[in-house]
Amino acid sequence: MSSSHTQANTAAVGGLSFLNPAAPEPWASFVEQIDRVAPHMGPLSKWVDTLKHPKRILIVDVPIVRDDGSVAHYEGYRVQHNLSRGPGKGGVRFHPAVTLNEVMALSGWMTIKNAAVNLPYGGAKGGIRIDPRAHSRGELQRITRRFTSEIGLIIGPEKDIPAPDVGTNEQTMAWMMDTYSMNVGSTATGVVTGKPIPLGGSLGRHEATGRGVFIAAREAGRRSNVPIAGARVVVQGFGNVGGIAARMFHEAGARVIALQDHSATLSNEAGIDVPAALAHAAANGGLAGFAGAAPISVEDFWLLSSDYLVPAALEGQILPERARTISTKIVVEGANGPTTPAADDILRDRGILVVPDVLANAGGVTVSYFEWVQDFSSFFWSEDEINARLERIMVGAFEAIWQMAEERKVSLRTATFIIACQRVLAAREQRGLYP
Ligand code: GLU
Repeated sequence: MSSSHTQANTAAVGGLSFLNPAAPEPWASFVEQIDRVAPHMGPLSKWVDTLKHPKRILIVDVPIVRDDGSVAHYEGYRVQHNLSRGPGKGGVRFHPAVTLNEVMALSGWMTIKNAAVNLPYGGAKGGIRIDPRAHSRGELQRITRRFTSEIGLIIGPEKDIPAPDVGTNEQTMAWMMDTYSMNVGSTATGVVTGKPIPLGGSLGRHEATGRGVFIAAREAGRRSNVPIAGARVVVQGFGNVGGIAARMFHEAGARVIALQDHSATLSNEAGIDVPAALAHAAANGGLAGFAGAAPISVEDFWLLSSDYLVPAALEGQILPERARTISTKIVVEGANGPTTPAADDILRDRGILVVPDVLANAGGVTVSYFEWVQDFSSFFWSEDEINARLERIMVGAFEAIWQMAEERKVSLRTATFIIACQRVLAAREQRGLYP
């Protein structure tokens, strides 16, 4: 990795909540996870190194005219980690700490996630190193459109299909779809997912990641005797993933005792009124100032005793130090990469069950797949049908992964990687190397 990408990461860390400068580089964590699965790959092990080499990396300069008339340049990326099982698929992140190293890891986790729930996709990810909160809507639109044009070389409905991630949303996807469509001369709804409903979006997509996190938690709880009703739940991140997951826990009778977002860390032992917190965050841009819970320190947040802990913000949150003191029964990873491999081992030794990101947050990309299928056929399904299909895929994948974990006596993460890597590497072997 060139040092400028690493330095940018370190430089951008200062002052940002959630970011831990001591966390290992995400790509190193991904490679370590691949190394852990290699001994389980049998004859396919000769292909394992494929997964340590992203297939294609595009670094782009994104220049725009700012609102004050000056010209600014931002760095953007699209990484296609693996395309053995189908087109690339994965989100686009707008965040001030985005680096190539991070986008590489996120693209690798998409390969694993898509294969784990058996979607006919490879893995990809994109990002731009910007702070979306520091730009006007007009600037964000210009950044998004120029980025889309630049990565237009490698994306497309049959090549690689972006979607929202941290810092991007339905509006971002509408601009991406429009820009790509203008460039090719016809409306191509299938080039991105997570679009607004009237532009070929899917019912249920907005809630899908949080819904999937909840389903994964429920399945884990059922098998470990940790009922959701009455459970104490702590959620880090209160956006599209953490916010929806918290709401679903609340609706199922759990007590959400603490929430953290970019603006505040709050707790209420009696249980937070999650719909009221969501309304406050929507109106004020964050949880800060919400009167239904009291501010606590970040370190106290991680020491709270809970039944479910849901990190749903960014990677590198649970390092060995926190893993030694966390007091919970089940960690459900809503974010990508929140737990480092060394912390994973400590949690396992302490008997804390971890439902890994590549399973727990797969609901989003699963409904993205439904959206893409609906766009191709221009035939749209009901929300009930979508939620029922999501439920079936998540429950089926969870069961298969649980069984694999029992059979091989490995963690749920390693079991997920075994199933996913078997699929990816079998496809690699059957296709063969070209030329
Ligand atoms: N960004 C989401 C993820 O990390 C969704 C990706 C997609 O829908 O393609 O899974």
